[in-house]
Amino acid sequence: MIQTEEMEFAPRIISPENTEEDGDTEISLRPQTLHEYIGQDKAKENLAIYIEAAKRRCEPLDHVLLYGPPGLGKTTLSGIIAHELGVNLRVTTGPAIEKPGDLVSLLTSLSDNDVLFIDEIHRLSRSVEEILYPALEDRVIDIIIGKGPAARSIRMDLKPFTLIGATTRAGQLSAPLRDRFGVVQRLELYNREQLTDIVRRSAMILNIPCTTDGASEIAGRARGTPRIANRLLKRVRDFADVMGNGQITQEIASIALSRLEIDNLGLDGLDRRMLEMIIKGYGGGPVGLETLASAINEESVTLEDVCEPFLMQLGFLGRTPRGRVATRLAYEHLGFVPPEQQNSSEDGQMSF
Ligand code: ADP
Repeated sequence: MIQTEEMEFAPRIISPENTEEDGDTEISLRPQTLHEYIGQDKAKENLAIYIEAAKRRCEPLDHVLLYGPPGLGKTTLSGIIAHELGVNLRVTTGPAIEKPGDLVSLLTSLSDNDVLFIDEIHRLSRSVEEILYPALEDRVIDIIIGKGPAARSIRMDLKPFTLIGATTRAGQLSAPLRDRFGVVQRLELYNREQLTDIVRRSAMILNIPCTTDGASEIAGRARGTPRIANRLLKRVRDFADVMGNGQITQEIASIALSRLEIDNLGLDGLDRRMLEMIIKGYGGGPVGLETLASAINEESVTLEDVCEPFLMQLGFLGRTPRGRVATRLAYEHLGFVPPEQQNSSEDGQMSF
């Protein structure tokens, strides 16, 4: 397959997944307190109450499940929760816990009321998940010693702890695991004002001169995701240094982002390829996700986790039982004539 420049470029800049390039700056940009954490007001208000109540009772916080697209601040929020509770945070991911023994050693190493954060919790293996059930419910683990008929099970008590699970796909969590979280909180995509505040805050921390208009221009193209906003800020800074006097203005941001092939609504090459394929290849849809993914040579999880939440928020994409459909707004944004107008010009009637 011939890889165009755009295909190589798009996932790198716009991907909400953590990349090596985000590296240390991501850590320095992470807010430490609920107060510094911008947006997600509903989640913040609820969590502030649960945290305060747990602190007053000197108990661990109930187990928390955070879900929503990548890059929205789930890891950051877990760090804040541990910080606000005044306890340690242990961070791991579902795929990193390969065997039940890995989870047992993690759980037994926790101190009183510590927070254990498991990212991508939907990827825990079945055998590991089964260790977790009694740990979450009764604060015990059952360890099997020996093999065959001589095997016996020993029950061990655990210190009180809070599990924070994060997932991009709450629907893939097994029901018994989901039911063991007392607090289930969805994180939403951020609006432009909130992202502008995030860009301004990051610019200040990184010592990048940036006007409010410049920050707003970046925010408007960051597809509702702080991680992308921060990454775009760093890319635009390069343009400001080379093309201007180092200050990020609206004009510089706009030129830089267009060069990065991110359009005025934040769509990148992959979003456009996906919508164009639905429109040109499948008459606007409906088309199944797998068919669509193979038609544009992309993984269906990428389309589902990265493109769809954003395109649906813009009202460009619909999900029906028979597959994905492009909306009139998508046709117009990409410069195609919407089907209802095609019909109306054919039969001389306007239909909306
Ligand atoms: P997730 O775990 O959901 O993938 P992260 O918690 O790693 O996302 O967040 C990615 C980056 O975005 C962090 O480095 C942080 O700087 C920034 N960020 C996320 N949420 C916020 C927020 N509400 N306010 C300020 N910065 C945020």
